[in-house]
Amino acid sequence: MKIAIEGCAHGELERIYNTIEGIENEQKIKIDLLLCCGDFQSTRNLKDLQTMAVPKKYLDICTFYKYYSGELVAPVLTIFIGGNHEASNYLQELPYGGWVAPNIYYLGYAGVVQVNGLRIAGISGIYKGHDFLRGHHEFPPYTESTCRSVYHVRQLEVFRLKQLSGKVDIFMSHDWPTGIYEYGNKEHLLKRKPFFADDMETGKLGSVPLEELLKAVRPEYWFAAHLHCKFAALVPHQPKPTSCSSSSSSDSDGDDDDVRDMPSTPKSPVTTTKFLALDKCLPRRGFLQVLDLPSNPIEGKPHLEYDPEWLSILLTTNHLISVKENYYYLPGKKAGELTERFNFTPTPEELAIIHEKFSSLRIPENFQMTSKAYDPLEQSNYKHMYIEQPTPQLNPQ
Ligand code: 5GP
Ligand code: MN
Repeated sequence: MKIAIEGCAHGELERIYNTIEGIENEQKIKIDLLLCCGDFQSTRNLKDLQTMAVPKKYLDICTFYKYYSGELVAPVLTIFIGGNHEASNYLQELPYGGWVAPNIYYLGYAGVVQVNGLRIAGISGIYKGHDFLRGHHEFPPYTESTCRSVYHVRQLEVFRLKQLSGKVDIFMSHDWPTGIYEYGNKEHLLKRKPFFADDMETGKLGSVPLEELLKAVRPEYWFAAHLHCKFAALVPHQPKPTSCSSSSSSDSDGDDDDVRDMPSTPKSPVTTTKFLALDKCLPRRGFLQVLDLPSNPIEGKPHLEYDPEWLSILLTTNHLISVKENYYYLPGKKAGELTERFNFTPTPEELAIIHEKFSSLRIPENFQMTSKAYDPLEQSNYKHMYIEQPTPQLNPQ
């Protein structure tokens, strides 16, 4: 499957699809899937634009609304996560993900889907420690404060993603995982972005929960955006501890000798994650990368499906949702220890429940408009309303 990966889209959908068409014509290939790593800006209209946290000079409806209204149709299946510049009110209509326009699918606060057998996971937003332990308490109309905190990553999504057990092919985030720059050409990165040095030294560049997820989920590929530069890294993973090496306590019947005498189980191979961050969508910038990954054969359009393990995790952790502003703690051996994994990985019985509930895992193409689309003939763009006018010069008479 040919996959195009985009860094921050910043509302430039028309430009991105045109670029894809250009690549298709030039390389005589067909791109099957577009992945966007946040700052997608799915603003349907000027009301949505008002909910987006962005300096006023960047307030621009851009081109998403054309795909929302039906004026244009997304030419390739597009899957995206949220970043820190989003139509948050619109995305909050789809906390578990869904179609924001025909052929354009939002993964939700966090989500896992499959496209022709390729397993794609993602998490929306950026990490700010002071909001991590809160519930999703923000709802429109937002205040100056909640229009920002609404996109801050929460522990529940990280906790849920840590429960995944099967192989994940692709993981998408907006932030970079902390420490990722140690596995690529750090010097070259610092040459291009010298102002990252201080944050690197203090461990503040990137997201701590994402580093934990990288180590727990170990996807084959990890794509990110936000820092506005292209950067590749290869992350080696230590072998996962075998059941023997961690067998000391619970089910022991006191006969430890049996365990010690067993031939050591073959260690799982050290795997790697191929990390790639992409730039934002601007001319002559590294904002798009095309990869060819093995998948089930594609006949016509690619098939978008729910992931049964993810659906089960959503179901069995439903009681852990909070919509309150206060900090709360998820279950674990030591409450608050974020690296602790508490087991909601589905059992075969729990997976069977999912298969009973869903006769088909195909995600229905059931997009519906929930608000009026922007009409450039009726209204002028915010950008023009907010452009700072030069102070009028008084004419000395
Ligand atoms: P955005 O497009 O999300 O408003 O902002 C992204 C910009 O902020 C990029 O240019 C990126 O370099 C910068 N940035 C984001 N997070 C950090 C950070 O943690 N440290 C530093 N030094 N820059 C950051
Ligand atoms: Mn960003």
